[in-house]
Amino acid sequence: MSAEKPINFLLVDDLEENLLALEALLQREGLTCLKARSGEEALELLLTHDVALALLDVQMPGMDGFELAEFMRGNERARHIPIIFVTAGAADKQRRFRGYEAGAVDFIQKPIEADILRSKAAVFFDLYRQRQEIERQRDELETAAQALRRADRHKDSFLAVLAHELRNPVAALSGGLHLLAKDLSPERSQDIRTRMDRMVTHLSHLVDDLLDVSRVSQGKISLKKERIALNEVLQSAIEASQHSLDAGCHRFTTDIPSDAIWLEADHTRLAQVVANLLNNAAKYTPAGGTVSLSALARDGMAEITVTDTGVGIAPEMQPRIFEIFAQVEDHLAKAQGGLGIGLALVKQLVALHGGSIEVESAGQNLGSTFRVKIPMSATALEA
Ligand code: ADP
Repeated sequence: MSAEKPINFLLVDDLEENLLALEALLQREGLTCLKARSGEEALELLLTHDVALALLDVQMPGMDGFELAEFMRGNERARHIPIIFVTAGAADKQRRFRGYEAGAVDFIQKPIEADILRSKAAVFFDLYRQRQEIERQRDELETAAQALRRADRHKDSFLAVLAHELRNPVAALSGGLHLLAKDLSPERSQDIRTRMDRMVTHLSHLVDDLLDVSRVSQGKISLKKERIALNEVLQSAIEASQHSLDAGCHRFTTDIPSDAIWLEADHTRLAQVVANLLNNAAKYTPAGGTVSLSALARDGMAEITVTDTGVGIAPEMQPRIFEIFAQVEDHLAKAQGGLGIGLALVKQLVALHGGSIEVESAGQNLGSTFRVKIPMSATALEA
Protein backbone atom coordinates (compact mmCIF):
# COMPACT_ATOMS: atom_id res chain seq x y z
CA MET A 1 0.00 0.00 0.00
CA SER A 2 1.24 3.48 -0.81
CA ALA A 3 0.75 4.61 2.83
CA GLU A 4 3.41 2.09 3.83
CA LYS A 5 6.03 3.42 1.45
CA PRO A 6 9.02 4.87 3.34
CA ILE A 7 8.72 8.57 4.08
CA ASN A 8 11.69 10.78 3.12
CA PHE A 9 12.99 13.60 5.26
CA LEU A 10 15.75 15.97 4.27
CA LEU A 11 18.61 17.19 6.46
CA VAL A 12 20.70 20.09 5.20
CA ASP A 13 23.86 21.07 7.10
CA ASP A 14 27.41 21.83 5.96
CA LEU A 15 28.86 19.87 8.89
CA GLU A 16 28.93 16.10 8.51
CA GLU A 17 28.80 15.52 12.28
CA ASN A 18 25.57 17.56 12.56
CA LEU A 19 23.99 15.54 9.77
CA LEU A 20 24.94 12.29 11.49
CA ALA A 21 23.68 13.50 14.86
CA LEU A 22 20.32 14.63 13.43
CA GLU A 23 19.95 11.43 11.46
CA ALA A 24 20.58 9.32 14.57
CA LEU A 25 18.03 11.39 16.42
CA LEU A 26 15.19 11.12 13.89
CA GLN A 27 15.79 7.85 12.10
CA ARG A 28 13.25 5.12 12.68
CA GLU A 29 11.55 2.38 10.73
CA GLY A 30 9.58 3.60 7.74
CA LEU A 31 11.68 6.76 7.32
CA THR A 32 14.43 7.45 4.82
CA CYS A 33 16.96 10.15 5.58
CA LEU A 34 18.28 12.28 2.69
CA LYS A 35 21.39 14.31 3.57
CA ALA A 36 22.68 17.39 1.79
CA ARG A 37 25.85 19.32 2.66
CA SER A 38 24.79 22.50 0.87
CA GLY A 39 21.72 24.32 -0.42
CA GLU A 40 22.56 23.34 -4.01
CA GLU A 41 22.84 19.67 -3.11
CA ALA A 42 19.50 19.93 -1.29
CA LEU A 43 17.76 21.45 -4.33
CA GLU A 44 19.10 18.63 -6.47
CA LEU A 45 17.70 16.01 -4.09
CA LEU A 46 14.35 17.82 -4.04
CA LEU A 47 14.10 17.50 -7.82
CA THR A 48 13.89 13.73 -7.60
CA HIS A 49 12.40 12.96 -4.17
CA ASP A 50 9.12 13.61 -2.38
CA VAL A 51 9.95 14.86 1.06
CA ALA A 52 7.75 15.02 4.17
CA LEU A 53 9.96 17.43 6.14
CA ALA A 54 13.14 19.47 5.62
CA LEU A 55 15.47 20.42 8.48
CA LEU A 56 17.64 23.31 7.32
CA ASP A 57 20.68 24.64 9.12
CA VAL A 58 20.39 28.42 8.92
CA GLN A 59 24.09 29.20 8.94
CA MET A 60 25.79 27.58 6.00
CA PRO A 61 28.52 28.96 3.76
CA GLY A 62 27.19 29.88 0.29
CA MET A 63 23.43 29.54 0.16
CA ASP A 64 22.19 29.76 3.76
CA GLY A 65 19.09 28.07 5.17
CA PHE A 66 16.78 31.04 4.54
CA GLU A 67 17.89 31.39 0.92
CA LEU A 68 17.41 27.68 0.37
CA ALA A 69 13.91 27.91 1.89
CA GLU A 70 13.02 30.76 -0.45
CA PHE A 71 14.16 28.70 -3.45
CA MET A 72 12.03 25.85 -2.16
CA ARG A 73 8.96 28.09 -1.88
CA GLY A 74 9.50 29.21 -5.45
CA ASN A 75 9.53 25.66 -6.73
CA GLU A 76 6.19 23.95 -7.48
CA ARG A 77 7.37 20.55 -6.31
CA ALA A 78 8.99 21.72 -3.06
CA ARG A 79 6.89 24.71 -2.06
CA HIS A 80 4.60 22.89 0.41
CA ILE A 81 7.31 20.96 2.22
CA PRO A 82 7.25 21.84 5.94
CA ILE A 83 10.54 23.38 7.06
CA ILE A 84 12.22 23.36 10.46
CA PHE A 85 15.09 25.87 10.63
CA VAL A 86 17.93 24.84 12.93
CA THR A 87 19.32 28.09 14.39
CA ALA A 88 22.46 28.73 16.40
CA GLY A 89 20.64 30.80 19.02
CA ALA A 90 17.92 33.34 19.71
CA ALA A 91 19.89 36.05 17.89
CA ASP A 92 19.76 33.97 14.79
CA LYS A 93 15.99 34.29 14.59
CA GLN A 94 16.14 37.12 12.17
CA ARG A 95 13.16 35.73 10.31
CA ARG A 96 14.44 37.02 7.05
CA PHE A 97 12.40 34.24 5.59
CA ARG A 98 9.21 35.31 3.82
CA GLY A 99 7.58 32.07 2.65
CA TYR A 100 5.27 31.39 5.61
CA GLU A 101 2.05 31.36 3.61
CA ALA A 102 3.11 28.38 1.47
CA GLY A 103 3.79 25.74 4.10
CA ALA A 104 4.54 25.10 7.75
CA VAL A 105 7.65 26.68 9.21
CA ASP A 106 9.17 26.11 12.61
CA PHE A 107 12.43 26.93 14.40
CA ILE A 108 14.55 24.85 16.72
CA GLN A 109 17.58 26.11 18.58
CA LYS A 110 20.94 24.54 19.07
CA PRO A 111 21.80 22.77 21.26
CA ILE A 112 18.91 20.67 20.10
CA GLU A 113 16.64 19.08 22.67
CA ALA A 114 16.09 15.62 21.29
CA ASP A 115 12.52 15.12 22.59
CA ILE A 116 11.32 18.45 21.25
CA LEU A 117 12.73 17.85 17.79
CA ARG A 118 11.40 14.30 17.69
CA SER A 119 7.88 15.34 18.61
CA LYS A 120 7.87 18.29 16.19
CA ALA A 121 9.08 16.00 13.39
CA ALA A 122 6.54 13.30 14.31
CA VAL A 123 3.68 15.76 13.77
CA PHE A 124 4.87 16.47 10.23
CA PHE A 125 5.39 12.78 9.43
CA ASP A 126 1.85 12.02 10.63
CA LEU A 127 0.44 14.85 8.53
CA TYR A 128 2.32 13.54 5.52
CA ARG A 129 0.96 10.02 6.06
CA GLN A 130 -2.57 11.38 6.39
CA ARG A 131 -2.18 13.37 3.19
CA GLN A 132 -0.94 10.28 1.36
CA GLU A 133 -3.96 8.35 2.65
CA ILE A 134 -6.32 11.13 1.51
CA GLU A 135 -4.66 11.11 -1.93
CA ARG A 136 -5.05 7.34 -2.14
CA GLN A 137 -8.74 7.60 -1.25
CA ARG A 138 -9.19 10.43 -3.75
CA ASP A 139 -7.63 8.25 -6.48
CA GLU A 140 -9.91 5.35 -5.54
CA LEU A 141 -12.96 7.62 -5.68
CA GLU A 142 -11.85 9.00 -9.03
CA THR A 143 -11.50 5.45 -10.42
CA ALA A 144 -14.96 4.56 -9.10
CA ALA A 145 -16.40 7.78 -10.54
CA GLN A 146 -14.82 7.01 -13.92
CA ALA A 147 -16.36 3.52 -13.89
CA LEU A 148 -19.76 5.02 -13.05
CA ARG A 149 -19.44 7.60 -15.82
CA ARG A 150 -18.54 4.82 -18.24
CA ALA A 151 -21.51 2.70 -17.10
CA ASP A 152 -23.73 5.75 -17.49
CA ARG A 153 -22.51 6.35 -21.04
CA HIS A 154 -23.03 2.66 -21.82
CA LYS A 155 -26.56 2.89 -20.50
CA ASP A 156 -27.28 5.97 -22.61
CA SER A 157 -26.00 4.41 -25.80
CA PHE A 158 -27.71 1.15 -24.86
CA LEU A 159 -31.08 2.92 -24.59
CA ALA A 160 -30.53 4.57 -27.95
CA VAL A 161 -29.59 1.26 -29.59
CA LEU A 162 -32.43 -0.56 -27.84
CA ALA A 163 -34.98 1.98 -29.04
CA HIS A 164 -33.61 1.63 -32.56
CA GLU A 165 -33.54 -2.16 -32.38
CA LEU A 166 -37.13 -2.32 -31.12
CA ARG A 167 -38.49 0.22 -33.58
CA ASN A 168 -37.53 -1.74 -36.70
CA PRO A 169 -39.19 -5.06 -35.84
CA VAL A 170 -42.18 -3.34 -34.26
CA ALA A 171 -42.70 -1.29 -37.43
CA ALA A 172 -42.29 -4.41 -39.55
CA LEU A 173 -44.75 -6.35 -37.36
CA SER A 174 -47.39 -3.66 -37.55
CA GLY A 175 -46.86 -3.43 -41.31
CA GLY A 176 -47.26 -7.21 -41.52
CA LEU A 177 -50.50 -7.15 -39.50
CA HIS A 178 -51.83 -4.43 -41.75
CA LEU A 179 -51.05 -6.50 -44.86
CA LEU A 180 -52.53 -9.68 -43.40
CA ALA A 181 -55.84 -7.88 -42.92
CA LYS A 182 -56.02 -7.58 -46.70
CA ASP A 183 -57.20 -10.24 -49.03
CA LEU A 184 -53.87 -11.87 -49.98
CA SER A 185 -52.95 -15.11 -51.70
CA PRO A 186 -52.13 -17.98 -49.28
CA GLU A 187 -48.44 -17.94 -50.41
CA ARG A 188 -48.09 -14.21 -49.81
CA SER A 189 -49.74 -14.52 -46.39
CA GLN A 190 -47.42 -17.38 -45.48
CA ASP A 191 -44.41 -15.36 -46.55
CA ILE A 192 -45.46 -12.43 -44.35
CA ARG A 193 -46.13 -14.74 -41.40
CA THR A 194 -42.66 -16.30 -41.73
CA ARG A 195 -41.05 -12.89 -41.67
CA MET A 196 -43.16 -11.80 -38.71
CA ASP A 197 -42.21 -15.00 -36.92
CA ARG A 198 -38.50 -14.20 -37.40
CA MET A 199 -39.01 -10.70 -36.00
CA VAL A 200 -40.87 -12.05 -32.99
CA THR A 201 -38.08 -14.56 -32.33
CA HIS A 202 -35.46 -11.78 -32.52
CA LEU A 203 -37.50 -9.60 -30.18
CA SER A 204 -38.04 -12.36 -27.65
CA HIS A 205 -34.30 -13.21 -27.62
CA LEU A 206 -33.59 -9.57 -26.90
CA VAL A 207 -36.13 -9.43 -24.10
CA ASP A 208 -34.97 -12.79 -22.67
CA ASP A 209 -31.35 -11.58 -22.54
CA LEU A 210 -32.38 -8.35 -20.87
CA LEU A 211 -34.46 -10.19 -18.30
CA ASP A 212 -31.65 -12.67 -17.66
CA VAL A 213 -29.14 -9.90 -17.06
CA SER A 214 -31.40 -8.09 -14.65
CA ARG A 215 -32.25 -11.35 -12.84
CA VAL A 216 -28.59 -12.33 -12.48
CA SER A 217 -27.57 -8.91 -11.20
CA GLN A 218 -30.35 -9.10 -8.63
CA GLY A 219 -29.25 -12.61 -7.66
CA LYS A 220 -32.57 -14.06 -8.89
CA ILE A 221 -31.25 -16.73 -11.24
CA SER A 222 -30.93 -20.12 -9.66
CA LEU A 223 -29.18 -22.85 -11.59
CA LYS A 224 -30.82 -26.23 -12.03
CA LYS A 225 -27.62 -28.14 -11.44
CA GLU A 226 -27.40 -31.81 -12.34
CA ARG A 227 -24.66 -34.28 -13.08
CA ILE A 228 -24.09 -33.94 -16.79
CA ALA A 229 -21.46 -34.81 -19.35
CA LEU A 230 -19.84 -31.80 -20.99
CA ASN A 231 -20.16 -33.40 -24.46
CA GLU A 232 -23.95 -33.18 -24.23
CA VAL A 233 -23.80 -29.50 -23.32
CA LEU A 234 -21.46 -28.81 -26.22
CA GLN A 235 -23.76 -30.68 -28.62
CA SER A 236 -26.70 -28.47 -27.58
CA ALA A 237 -24.53 -25.37 -28.00
CA ILE A 238 -23.42 -26.44 -31.49
CA GLU A 239 -27.03 -27.05 -32.53
CA ALA A 240 -28.07 -23.64 -31.22
CA SER A 241 -25.33 -21.81 -33.10
CA GLN A 242 -25.26 -23.94 -36.27
CA HIS A 243 -27.34 -21.38 -38.09
CA SER A 244 -24.88 -18.50 -37.46
CA LEU A 245 -21.90 -20.69 -38.31
CA ASP A 246 -23.53 -21.71 -41.60
CA ALA A 247 -24.63 -18.16 -42.36
CA GLY A 248 -21.00 -16.97 -42.07
CA CYS A 249 -19.82 -19.84 -44.34
CA HIS A 250 -17.21 -20.65 -41.69
CA ARG A 251 -15.15 -23.79 -41.36
CA PHE A 252 -16.14 -25.23 -37.99
CA THR A 253 -13.78 -27.66 -36.22
CA THR A 254 -14.16 -29.44 -32.90
CA ASP A 255 -11.70 -31.17 -30.61
CA ILE A 256 -13.74 -32.76 -27.86
CA PRO A 257 -12.47 -35.84 -25.94
CA SER A 258 -14.63 -38.93 -26.30
CA ASP A 259 -14.29 -39.74 -22.57
CA ALA A 260 -17.04 -37.97 -20.66
CA ILE A 261 -16.03 -34.92 -18.63
CA TRP A 262 -18.54 -34.81 -15.78
CA LEU A 263 -19.89 -31.59 -14.39
CA GLU A 264 -22.36 -30.44 -11.79
CA ALA A 265 -23.99 -27.83 -13.98
CA ASP A 266 -27.16 -26.38 -15.46
CA HIS A 267 -27.35 -27.90 -18.93
CA THR A 268 -29.42 -25.10 -20.49
CA ARG A 269 -27.40 -22.25 -19.01
CA LEU A 270 -24.01 -23.74 -19.82
CA ALA A 271 -25.13 -24.50 -23.38
CA GLN A 272 -26.29 -20.86 -23.56
CA VAL A 273 -22.77 -19.76 -22.52
CA VAL A 274 -21.02 -21.80 -25.20
CA ALA A 275 -23.60 -21.00 -27.88
CA ASN A 276 -23.13 -17.31 -27.15
CA LEU A 277 -19.37 -17.62 -27.63
CA LEU A 278 -19.85 -19.59 -30.86
CA ASN A 279 -22.38 -17.05 -32.16
CA ASN A 280 -19.98 -14.20 -31.40
CA ALA A 281 -17.12 -16.08 -33.08
CA ALA A 282 -19.34 -16.49 -36.15
CA LYS A 283 -20.50 -12.84 -36.05
CA TYR A 284 -17.09 -11.26 -35.59
CA THR A 285 -15.29 -13.38 -38.19
CA PRO A 286 -15.45 -12.35 -41.85
CA ALA A 287 -17.13 -14.90 -44.11
CA GLY A 288 -15.10 -18.03 -44.78
CA GLY A 289 -13.09 -17.94 -41.54
CA THR A 290 -12.50 -20.74 -39.06
CA VAL A 291 -14.26 -21.23 -35.75
CA SER A 292 -13.02 -23.96 -33.40
CA LEU A 293 -14.49 -25.47 -30.29
CA SER A 294 -12.34 -27.62 -28.01
CA ALA A 295 -12.61 -29.08 -24.55
CA LEU A 296 -10.32 -30.80 -22.09
CA ALA A 297 -10.06 -31.68 -18.42
CA ARG A 298 -7.19 -30.16 -16.46
CA ASP A 299 -6.54 -29.82 -12.71
CA GLY A 300 -10.13 -30.61 -11.75
CA MET A 301 -11.52 -28.09 -14.23
CA ALA A 302 -13.28 -28.54 -17.55
CA GLU A 303 -11.78 -26.09 -20.06
CA ILE A 304 -13.91 -25.06 -23.00
CA THR A 305 -12.17 -22.99 -25.67
CA VAL A 306 -13.77 -21.13 -28.57
CA THR A 307 -11.30 -19.73 -31.09
CA ASP A 308 -11.92 -17.76 -34.24
CA THR A 309 -9.88 -16.20 -37.02
CA GLY A 310 -11.92 -13.00 -36.96
CA VAL A 311 -11.57 -9.30 -36.29
CA GLY A 312 -9.84 -9.78 -32.92
CA ILE A 313 -10.00 -7.45 -29.93
CA ALA A 314 -7.50 -4.68 -29.15
CA PRO A 315 -5.66 -5.27 -25.84
CA GLU A 316 -7.16 -2.19 -24.14
CA MET A 317 -10.71 -3.41 -24.88
CA GLN A 318 -10.16 -6.97 -23.68
CA PRO A 319 -10.86 -6.35 -19.96
CA ARG A 320 -13.92 -4.24 -20.85
CA ILE A 321 -15.90 -6.47 -23.19
CA PHE A 322 -17.40 -8.42 -20.27
CA GLU A 323 -18.96 -5.25 -18.90
CA ILE A 324 -22.63 -4.87 -19.67
CA PHE A 325 -23.42 -2.84 -22.80
CA ALA A 326 -19.71 -2.80 -23.75
CA GLN A 327 -19.16 -3.03 -27.49
CA VAL A 328 -16.05 -2.37 -29.51
CA GLU A 329 -16.80 0.75 -31.56
CA ASP A 330 -15.19 -0.63 -34.74
CA HIS A 331 -17.24 -3.83 -34.50
CA LEU A 332 -20.69 -2.24 -34.42
CA ALA A 333 -21.33 -2.99 -38.08
CA LYS A 334 -20.90 -6.69 -37.29
CA ALA A 335 -22.93 -6.77 -34.05
CA GLN A 336 -26.11 -7.80 -35.94
CA GLY A 337 -28.38 -5.97 -33.55
CA GLY A 338 -26.48 -7.17 -30.47
CA LEU A 339 -26.51 -4.80 -27.54
CA GLY A 340 -23.36 -5.75 -25.68
CA ILE A 341 -25.27 -7.91 -23.22
CA GLY A 342 -24.15 -11.39 -24.28
CA LEU A 343 -20.68 -11.52 -22.73
CA ALA A 344 -21.83 -9.84 -19.51
CA LEU A 345 -24.44 -12.55 -19.16
CA VAL A 346 -21.91 -15.26 -20.10
CA LYS A 347 -19.53 -14.03 -17.41
CA GLN A 348 -22.26 -14.01 -14.78
CA LEU A 349 -23.51 -17.49 -15.72
CA VAL A 350 -19.96 -18.86 -15.62
CA ALA A 351 -19.42 -17.28 -12.20
CA LEU A 352 -22.67 -18.86 -10.94
CA HIS A 353 -21.10 -22.20 -11.88
CA GLY A 354 -18.01 -21.34 -9.80
CA GLY A 355 -15.96 -20.92 -12.98
CA SER A 356 -14.08 -18.22 -14.83
CA ILE A 357 -13.75 -16.84 -18.36
CA GLU A 358 -10.83 -15.14 -20.06
CA VAL A 359 -10.17 -13.72 -23.49
CA GLU A 360 -7.00 -13.64 -25.54
CA SER A 361 -6.43 -11.83 -28.80
CA ALA A 362 -3.20 -10.71 -30.38
CA GLY A 363 -5.13 -7.65 -31.64
CA GLN A 364 -7.01 -6.26 -34.61
CA ASN A 365 -7.84 -8.90 -37.26
CA LEU A 366 -5.79 -11.55 -35.46
CA GLY A 367 -8.72 -13.60 -34.15
CA SER A 368 -9.90 -14.19 -30.59
CA THR A 369 -9.90 -17.02 -28.09
CA PHE A 370 -12.39 -17.29 -25.23
CA ARG A 371 -11.62 -19.86 -22.52
CA VAL A 372 -14.20 -20.95 -19.95
CA LYS A 373 -13.20 -23.02 -16.92
CA ILE A 374 -15.86 -24.86 -14.93
CA PRO A 375 -15.12 -27.06 -11.90
CA MET A 376 -15.61 -30.75 -12.63
CA SER A 377 -18.06 -32.75 -10.58
CA ALA A 378 -16.34 -34.01 -7.41
CA THR A 379 -18.05 -37.41 -7.64
CA ALA A 380 -16.94 -37.70 -11.25
CA LEU A 381 -13.36 -37.02 -10.17
CA GLU A 382 -13.47 -39.96 -7.75
CA ALA A 383 -15.14 -42.29 -10.27
P1 ADP B 1 -22.79 -8.04 -28.79
O1 ADP B 1 -24.25 -8.26 -28.66
O2 ADP B 1 -22.44 -6.64 -29.18
O3 ADP B 1 -22.12 -9.06 -29.64
P2 ADP B 1 -21.38 -9.20 -26.51
O4 ADP B 1 -21.53 -8.87 -25.06
O5 ADP B 1 -21.63 -10.60 -26.92
O6 ADP B 1 -22.28 -8.16 -27.30
O7 ADP B 1 -19.91 -8.81 -26.93
C1 ADP B 1 -19.38 -7.56 -26.53
C2 ADP B 1 -18.41 -7.02 -27.56
O8 ADP B 1 -17.23 -7.81 -27.55
C3 ADP B 1 -18.92 -7.11 -28.98
O9 ADP B 1 -19.69 -5.96 -29.30
C4 ADP B 1 -17.65 -7.21 -29.78
O10 ADP B 1 -17.14 -5.91 -30.02
C5 ADP B 1 -16.68 -7.92 -28.85
N1 ADP B 1 -16.58 -9.36 -29.18
C6 ADP B 1 -17.24 -10.39 -28.61
N2 ADP B 1 -16.86 -11.58 -29.13
C7 ADP B 1 -15.91 -11.29 -30.07
C8 ADP B 1 -15.11 -12.09 -30.97
N3 ADP B 1 -15.21 -13.43 -31.02
N4 ADP B 1 -14.25 -11.42 -31.77
C9 ADP B 1 -14.13 -10.07 -31.72
N5 ADP B 1 -14.84 -9.27 -30.90
C10 ADP B 1 -15.74 -9.87 -30.08
